[in-house]
Amino acid sequence: MNYRGKSAVVTGGAGGIGLQVARQLLAAGIGKIAIIDLQDNLEEFVKLRGAHPTQSVMIIKMDVANKKGVEATYEEIKKTFGNIDIVVNVAGIFNDRDVQRTLLVNLGGIINSSLSALQYMSKENGGNGGLVVNMSSVVGLDPMFIIPVYGATKAGIINFTRCLGNEKFYQRSGIKFATVCPGATMTDMFTNFTEKIIFPETSDETYKILDRLNKQSATDVARCIMNVLEKEKNGAVYVIEGKRIVPIDMKPHWTGKEPAL
Ligand code: NAD
Ligand code: MG
Repeated sequence: MNYRGKSAVVTGGAGGIGLQVARQLLAAGIGKIAIIDLQDNLEEFVKLRGAHPTQSVMIIKMDVANKKGVEATYEEIKKTFGNIDIVVNVAGIFNDRDVQRTLLVNLGGIINSSLSALQYMSKENGGNGGLVVNMSSVVGLDPMFIIPVYGATKAGIINFTRCLGNEKFYQRSGIKFATVCPGATMTDMFTNFTEKIIFPETSDETYKILDRLNKQSATDVARCIMNVLEKEKNGAVYVIEGKRIVPIDMKPHWTGKEPAL
């Protein structure tokens, strides 16, 4: 993919995996990047701008759970950048004890940002089309019993993104949608983990499970997301583990579906 002259949006880009994605897009030569995050990370943003003085880095403080706010943010980005070509939706939280917030941020945030991307990138509305990559998790594919609420949002993200990654939508909008499902990654998300699980009686087990997991770096995950961008495969779902992307064959289960649908 030629990133020169292209514009990208990254949600959750103030820290963890999202920040590494923003970094690598800039290193790959993206012309303009907008980082949407609830939090500031002035030190890192100053560094990003300093390292890439001829590229535009726009920072927008916004809650992805805020649908109207996300729409207004996309409108502002589109006005400032002229077009949006790539979106990487990374923003997410872990807090199974706050069910509503988890649903609104993880699943709601992905839906809000993806639908705004459709509106502002679609060929039907004068955009160029492009590519949207949504962040799920391996626990969205394989249930992990200690984190059912988080897992439910991640499973929902896979289904939502596969719906939008339909060929019929693509023909109209020119936008491709892919899902990434990383395994455990070393970021702040594991901080105070056992205080945020829904069944405290599983916390001993949780410690053991967390200990045993193979953890990868946020930089490695971001590099894999760059590979996914290169593939440009509509509707694809990838596991990210051990520095590589593994395409997942999502087989149909329902046999009663009309073939014509
Ligand atoms: P992180 O906490 O380091 O980064 C998350 C970023 O999202 C932060 O900058 C945070 O401020 C931002 N954010 C949180 N809520 C937001 C909101 N409502 N609106 C806007 N921004 C918001 O965590 P991370 O590990 O880098 O996680 C990034 C994504 O990767 C999440 O969606 C997470 O579920 C997913 N993921 C993480 C792992 C892992 O093991 N760390 C594994 C698979 C998937
Ligand atoms: Mg992050």
